[in-house]
Amino acid sequence: MKTIDKIYINGEFVTPQGTEYFDLISPTTNEKLGKVRLGNTEDTQNAIEAAKNALKTFSKTTASERIQYLKNIKSAIEKRKDDFIDVMTEEYGGTFQFASVSYDYMLKSFESAINLLNNYDFTKTMGESEVQMTPIGVVGIIIPWNSSNGFICSKLSTAIAAGCTTVIKPSEMSAQQTQLILECLHEANLPKGVFNIVNGLGEVVGAEISRNPDISKISFTGSTNVGKIIAKEAVNTMKRVTLELGGKSPNIILDDADFSKAIPLALGAAFMNSGQACIAGTRLLIPENKLEETKLLIKEIASNFIVGNPKNPNTAVGPMVSEKQYNRVQDYIQIGINEGAEILTGGLGKPEGLENGNFVKPTVFVNVTNQMRIAREEIFGPVLSIITYKTEEEAIEIANDTTYGLQAYVSSSNTERAHRVASQINAGRVQINGIGHDPMAPFGGFKQSGIGREFGTLGLEAYLEPRALIQPK
Ligand code: NAD
Repeated sequence: MKTIDKIYINGEFVTPQGTEYFDLISPTTNEKLGKVRLGNTEDTQNAIEAAKNALKTFSKTTASERIQYLKNIKSAIEKRKDDFIDVMTEEYGGTFQFASVSYDYMLKSFESAINLLNNYDFTKTMGESEVQMTPIGVVGIIIPWNSSNGFICSKLSTAIAAGCTTVIKPSEMSAQQTQLILECLHEANLPKGVFNIVNGLGEVVGAEISRNPDISKISFTGSTNVGKIIAKEAVNTMKRVTLELGGKSPNIILDDADFSKAIPLALGAAFMNSGQACIAGTRLLIPENKLEETKLLIKEIASNFIVGNPKNPNTAVGPMVSEKQYNRVQDYIQIGINEGAEILTGGLGKPEGLENGNFVKPTVFVNVTNQMRIAREEIFGPVLSIITYKTEEEAIEIANDTTYGLQAYVSSSNTERAHRVASQINAGRVQINGIGHDPMAPFGGFKQSGIGREFGTLGLEAYLEPRALIQPK
């Protein structure tokens, strides 16, 4: 049993003023793993004050000083690879495969921030004026549980690159993962107050970050509902916001695609991170005359899918993070049945032998229309809806008929055709014939999938405020 009773403010592990505890429950067994002491409003204010003081000098550091800090953090994280993978599989139930990818992603965040700093010009000429790109101020970072340390690394590395200081609020369910990254960040020896981390509840710590006038920007990843609450509060003090929200990503398989490759890829896209992924390809768009072939392929692949202990390197789908999330996924499977969709594989209940954890059966629905709730709402579990189409135009129309627009997928053996279709989809990223991550390309959503972009130059500039010096001649 682990007790996490420290938060991190101004370069030190400190005991929070808050006295409430939150239980950390194993998603794999539902046994208690430990507990975390939660910070309160005062703790959050202290963290913001530390970040505000640190900003005075940190905002004046040179790019090469900041590159050194980023290198220090990266080397501290490099020493703890196994610990990062272990704690993510244990506390969150992320599969070994996903936790390994997530660890690489953490390191890549620092590499790409260093790359940006080596190439970005903070002073530009626009028109006849000098434009100085200045650090935006203290940044509040609020993140969910589905890739906690990945989000801390991508957001913190960009903030540091920009010369900003930060107050970070991870999910209370990620406390052990947070403790590990804190140990690495502490070892990296950055100036006091550049990063502060407060464990706590969204309505307490997150709300204070959204309200406090000393926070200049919020970088949030989470649900569209909470994103809206934060944005409404943020506007009172004109905070800048970057919101990475939900998704219902379409995956268009064109009729000329190699289905023996495209369908395994589609299941990978739907069930990545056990379906708890904002970018999961949860609407599979199939030409009507290819439905039977698709069904056979899916049944065959799904029968070899390993669901179970996330520590097993062969496991494809682990448990849902919490009982609440398990129930949410069950509710949606029931909704799909009630709406008249047909279960191809999976269904309600827990897989045999996995009754103790929050395991669901990876589920594929056919006979789905794009108007059904299972095709419109983000489920955040391994549930895939197959929708058929007649023409390429109809496929694009269905793909775009959604309130979301985070990511999309297109498969075709004709790359020009795939490119043409991809260029008509209203999503921040479109993956063609594969699934990849380019840390120098922008990431973010169209429509209700968010506001703003992360990564690359656009991501960096979201942490900068331009100042134009105009000297009329
Ligand atoms: P969530 O929105 O419930 O919580 C996210 C964070 O916000 C948590 O730290 C939470 O404590 C905090 N929070 C909650 N209420 C708050 C409030 N009133 N004020 C301020 N902060 C508050 O999301 P979740 O359930 O933790 O994660 C799942 C969601 O995250 C899904 O909708 C998913 O699509 C989304 N997500 C998006 C991306 C992306 O990059 N677009 C990535 C991963 C997850």
